[in-house]
Parts: sequence; C-alpha cells; structure tokens
Amino acid sequence: MKYFIGNWKMFGVPKSINILKKINSFTAKDKIRNKYRIIITPPYTLLESFAKKFKSKKVLIGSQNCYHKDLFSSNTSAISPFMIRSVGVKYTLIGHSDNRAEGDSDDMLRDKVKYALKNNLKVIFCIGENKFQKKNNQTFKVLKNQLNNALEKKINHNNIIIAYEPIWSIGTGRIPNHNELLKTIIYIKDILRKIFKKTPAVLYGGSVDANNVDMLSQIKELDGFLIGGASKSSKKFIDIIKNYYR
Ligand code: PEP
Repeated sequence: MKYFIGNWKMFGVPKSINILKKINSFTAKDKIRNKYRIIITPPYTLLESFAKKFKSKKVLIGSQNCYHKDLFSSNTSAISPFMIRSVGVKYTLIGHSDNRAEGDSDDMLRDKVKYALKNNLKVIFCIGENKFQKKNNQTFKVLKNQLNNALEKKINHNNIIIAYEPIWSIGTGRIPNHNELLKTIIYIKDILRKIFKKTPAVLYGGSVDANNVDMLSQIKELDGFLIGGASKSSKKFIDIIKNYYR
C-alpha cells in the first residue's frame, strides 16, 4: 500500500472541497485504486465538513497538527486530539518542520503522539534535517534523535506513518538524489526496526511533483509521499499518482 498525503497548510475555504471531489472521482474510476491510500490534511476550519462529506470515500481526512494535551484545557486556540477525533477525522500530522520551528519540542511531540494514538488517530510523524545539519553530516544523528525522542516501543507500528521531509527541500524545488534518499530511507527503517521490531510506512516529502515522482518511484523502499504545494491542485495531485504508476 502506497500513501499519497496532501498537506494543504494555510490553504482552503469551504468551496475547496471541489478539489477533493475531483480527486475522489479520479480514484473511484481508477482500476489500481486499491494500491494506494489518499489522505488530505486541510486546515482545522474545514476538518468537520470535509470529514463528514468524505466519510467512507476513497479520500481520507487528516489534521495538520494537534495540541499536546488530551480532552479539554485552558490553552487559548489549542485543539486536542480528542476534539479532532470527535469530528470524524482519522489521521493527524505531528512534528511538521513548520511546527517544530514554532516551538514544538521533543517532549511536546512525544505527548502529541501519545494523545493522538490514545484518541484513535493514526499519526503521520514528520522528521527531517535542515540545510546546516545536512552540510555538517548530521542528518542521520538528527533523524535518529527525532525518532527516538518521540516514539515509544509500546506503540503499535500500524498506527504510525513516518514522513521524511528534509527541511531544505520543502517548497524549494530541490530534492535529494536517488542514492542519498535511498540510504536515508534504509537508515530510518533500521532505526524504526530497533524501536518497534517491525517498520511502519516511511514516506518522502519535499517538493514532490509530477515530474520528479518518476525518479522517486524507483525507490521501492518508499511507501509514499507527503505533498505540500502540489496537493492544492487536483490536477497536479492526480498527475503525481498517475506518473508514479506509469
Ligand atoms: C510540506 O510542507 O510538507 C511539503 C512537503 O511541502 P512541498 O511539497 O510544497 O515542498
């Protein structure tokens, strides 16, 4: 099973549901639709309406983040995993580099993962090195710490998806080369095997588009993609899927 996950970030109004409808009609007719799973993460404002509309459809809905406390609290503007699950959402991103940059610490991320799983949300956990860390050959060390600091042995590996997103690649049009990416994905899977005994799905994210997905599709160790910019257009998103399987 391959994952194509679209992260809308700060994009979308109610009528943007048309993008999801187009993606859904494409998959409904696609003969190989059982080979992949699509998850779109719109902003909080659209979660409930989209989750209701796409209940039992091929396109699943996820949140972009969640707060590091459960149930209710007195933190202004915070939204807990319990609240997200209560509107029918089944997935959440956690640890996106945008949120790490805004202050999400390892401790907070560990709690986010814990409470998301407790509330039956599947977690798409994002990791990745920045330009400086890459230049200084710290990539593996950074990834290992990010994984070990947030993921606990007792987690069911089926409820976690890892998205490797090098920060220097997000929104820049630059992607790692084939060998570099292959080595990193194998390394991440090794670390995960040490934590869980089995490996959760590992995705790549960062400037994925309909052109470079061809090269990326040659890395069979990849279980799918987290797609930012190109997920805001149904055509670009569908073209990525089509080109992946071409
Ligand atoms: C992202 O922000 O998660 C992302 C992958 O963005 P983009 O595809 O635009 O690089």
